[in-house]
Amino acid sequence: MATIGSVTRQIAALEISGSGSRAPPASSIARPIHTKQSSQDNVAKLLTKFAAPNQHQSQSNLSKLPPPPPSRSDTARSDTQASIDIGRYDGGLETENEKRGEAVSGEAAEDLALDSSMSRTYPTQEWSLHSFDIGRPLGKGKFGRVYMVRTKTTPKYILALKTLYKSELVANKVEKQTRREIEIQQNLRHPHILRLYGFFHDEKRIFLMLEFAGKGELYKQLSKVGSFSEKRSARYIDQMADALIYLHGKHVIHRDIKPENLLLGINGELKIGDFGWSVHAPGLRRMTLCGTLDYLPPEMVEGKEHNEKVDYWALGVLTYEFMIGAPPFEDRGSVNNTYRRIARVDLKFPSTISAEAKDLISKLLQYDPRQRLPLTDVLRHPWIVKYRPKGNNAREGGSV
Ligand code: ATP
Ligand code: MG
Repeated sequence: MATIGSVTRQIAALEISGSGSRAPPASSIARPIHTKQSSQDNVAKLLTKFAAPNQHQSQSNLSKLPPPPPSRSDTARSDTQASIDIGRYDGGLETENEKRGEAVSGEAAEDLALDSSMSRTYPTQEWSLHSFDIGRPLGKGKFGRVYMVRTKTTPKYILALKTLYKSELVANKVEKQTRREIEIQQNLRHPHILRLYGFFHDEKRIFLMLEFAGKGELYKQLSKVGSFSEKRSARYIDQMADALIYLHGKHVIHRDIKPENLLLGINGELKIGDFGWSVHAPGLRRMTLCGTLDYLPPEMVEGKEHNEKVDYWALGVLTYEFMIGAPPFEDRGSVNNTYRRIARVDLKFPSTISAEAKDLISKLLQYDPRQRLPLTDVLRHPWIVKYRPKGNNAREGGSV
C-alpha cells in the first residue's frame, strides 16, 4: 500500500520526467478552471427537439438491419430532421485526410477494422462517408474532427460524426482500448449516455456515428456562468446518478467523470460522452499526465485496489465543482498538495452552500469507498428530490 510520502515522491518524479517530454509542466498539470475553448456555438438553434432517438433499453431504427419502414412518428421526426440546417461543410474531412495519418498494417489494422454492420450483438446497416450530408464542424477531438451530419436515406437523422485516425491511435497505444470502448458504447442504451449508433472505417480513419448533443459541452456552459445554481446542479447530479446506476449494472465503471466528458442534449439534458477509461483502469502516472487528478479518489491516489465506488467519489467532486466552480481538492500551485488534500479528504465549503447539498457531497466524498452513499440513495436524497421536476421522472432532463 502506498503511503502519502511515497505518492508524493512518485508525483515529484512525474514532475521531473514530465518537463522534458510532451507532458505539461507540473504547474500546468492541474486543469485550468473553465478555460477550454469550444467550437460549438449556437448549434442548439439549428435543432428542434427531434434528434435521433435514444430510447432507454431499446434499439433505434438506426441499429436495425434492414431499417424498418418508418412509422408515422418516424416520418414526422424524419421530415423535421430533413428541414434542419446542418450548417456549411468546410471541406475539412478531405483536407485533413490529405495531411494527417497513414494506413496501418498487421494486427493493429485488424483491431481497427471496425464496422458496426458486422457486429454480432447489434448489427447495423452498412455505412460509409457517402451515406451522409456533411454539415458544420462541431469540434476537434484528440484523434480527428467531429462534424454535424444527416443521413441521406430516410428516415433522416441528425448525428455527430467523429473521426479517429488509426495511425494516431496506434502511436498512442490505444487501439485495443478504443476497440473495446466502441464495443461497450455501442451496447449502452440510456437517456443520459451518448448513443453510438454505428461505425465504419476506411484505410486511414474510423468514423463514429454519435448521438448529436445539441447544446454542446457542459464544460463550456460552466465556464460561461462560473457555477451552477443548486437547482441546476441537483438536476444534473440526478441524471448522472441514474446513468451510473445503469452503467454499474452492466459492470462498466466510468473512472473519468468530469465536466469535460459531459455533453448536453437539445433539451439541456446531460449526456455522458466519453468512455476512454471505462475499459482499462489507468495507472496513477497515466491519470496524472492526463491532468485529471482533481477527480481521483483516495484509493487511486494511494495506489490501492479500486472498484465502481470511484465513480461515487467523482460524483461528489462533480457536485462540488458544479456549485462552487472549482473542484474541492484543487491546489493550482501544487500537484502534491492536491494529492495530499485528497488523501486527507480536506473538504471545505463556502458559506453559500446549503446544508442539504453539503450533506450529499460529504456522504459521497468518504475516504472509505464502502462508506460512500449508494447511488440509489443519491436518487432519494432530499437535495435531489427537492429539485426534481414534478410529474416526470426527472431524469428526462427538463430545463435546467
Ligand atoms: P478532447 O480530448 O479535446 O475532449 P476528444 O478526442 O475527447 O477530444 P471529443 O471531446 O469527443 O473528442 O470531441 C471534440 C469536440 O467535438 C467536443 O469538445 C464537442 O465540442 C464536439 N462533439 C463531440 N461529440 C459531439 C456530439 N456527439 N455532439 C455534439 N458535439 C460533439
Ligand atoms: Mg472529449
